[in-house]
Amino acid sequence: MDTQVRYWFTDDMSEPLKKRIVLLGATGSIGTSCQDVVRAHLDCMEFWALTAHSRWKELAAACHEFQPRYAVLTGISRQEVPGNAFPASVQVLFGEDSVSRVVVDAEVEIVVSAIVGAAGLRGTWAAVDAGKAVALANKETMVVAGPLVTRLAAESGAKLIPVDSEHSAIFQALQCGGDKEVRRLILTASGGPFRTWPAEKLKTATVNDALAHPTWDMGPKITIDSATMMNKALEIIEARWLFGVPSQQIDVVVHPQSIVHSMVEFVDGSVLAQLSPPDMRLPIQYALTWPKRMPGVSPRMDLTQASTLVFEPPDRERFPALDLGFEVARQGGTSGAVLNAANEVAVSRFLLGELTFLEITRLCRSVLDAHEFEVEPTLNDVTRLDQWAREEALRWKTWSGQSPSTVQPIC
Ligand code: NAD
Ligand code: MG
Repeated sequence: MDTQVRYWFTDDMSEPLKKRIVLLGATGSIGTSCQDVVRAHLDCMEFWALTAHSRWKELAAACHEFQPRYAVLTGISRQEVPGNAFPASVQVLFGEDSVSRVVVDAEVEIVVSAIVGAAGLRGTWAAVDAGKAVALANKETMVVAGPLVTRLAAESGAKLIPVDSEHSAIFQALQCGGDKEVRRLILTASGGPFRTWPAEKLKTATVNDALAHPTWDMGPKITIDSATMMNKALEIIEARWLFGVPSQQIDVVVHPQSIVHSMVEFVDGSVLAQLSPPDMRLPIQYALTWPKRMPGVSPRMDLTQASTLVFEPPDRERFPALDLGFEVARQGGTSGAVLNAANEVAVSRFLLGELTFLEITRLCRSVLDAHEFEVEPTLNDVTRLDQWAREEALRWKTWSGQSPSTVQPIC
């Protein structure tokens, strides 16, 4: 058992110590769900630091409620925030360096990595380097730098605990067998809002259509990724590095109810699944309490309401992003950083109305094919390729020839 977890969950439960948490991306969808979990467990959890990019009012409100030691804002300056916005007891820091600064404090036991996009890598890296437990929602960290992050964790003793619902399900199921007993990981996918749309209709899919996810309420970037199924592509890559399983042993099955969050097939033919209503507070809480379980705020399963569970193969012709996921998981090297960066820019351009829905994946394919592949990149190589891919993706001309404008970050 992990020593940091044993420290919190002493055998003597009459005197529980509070688990000190840093929440990166506190104002987002995962961030506010994490606040719900901590609010329900104030007897044994507390925030050491909360971070956000530019939504200082929401961050200040969370600081008034939870009274952390630090608040960090990365996307705005001190001059833009009224002096009395935060409680006097909270030290407010600015800039990206401050994120890396608060995660390494000796008092911190676990860092919830819930910033969106490759921007989440820096703070996650600092936490892993410092040997902290990391509850990982930011899948882009593993997509961009999976082998580097897992190597760093092995050296520092950091524990990576998945928050992504599929990976949390697999993490839970894997505890029922040894590494050599695993035949394959089966990721479930809701299929997104366009699961039943014919190929012809996808050409006209609008931003509002793509943002209307049938089962999950999430931030805009991951919601668009779910519509293209790029989210599942990123999750294939995430699973490949997080669990050290080759891409040939990873499958995807479409499951529109989002009740079965993923499965593991073992060599004897047993398939173990984790089921629960679609609510991210459950995998967040499990990551915070692992290896124990506690009562929580997530709704319970009602099998009389969800009696029909459907599974169907994904349509890789209508959703070619899936092929990119398997390809990049097989190649490794710099491919993940390039695919992720191209996709982040493509999603921003789609949200701005510069690309059609189908052009998101086309742009990604085109930037990926144009990149100079390196098989064993350093963190510097990965950062350089990320930058290169963003510039390529910004230059990429749409079929209609529309020229790119300035793309705003997704937040
Ligand atoms: P979101 O857009 O709702 O929130 C993003 C958070 O990151 C905000 O707090 C924002 O202030 C912060 N942020 C944005 N840009 C930043 C930057 N450049 N630097 C520092 N902070 C920045 O996103 P989300 O839906 O909560 O997703 C967060 C992460 O969790 C993503 O990696 C996503 O793939 C993953 N995830 C989300 C869900 C979900 O249900 N929302 C499920 C599984 C995994
Ligand atoms: Mg997921």
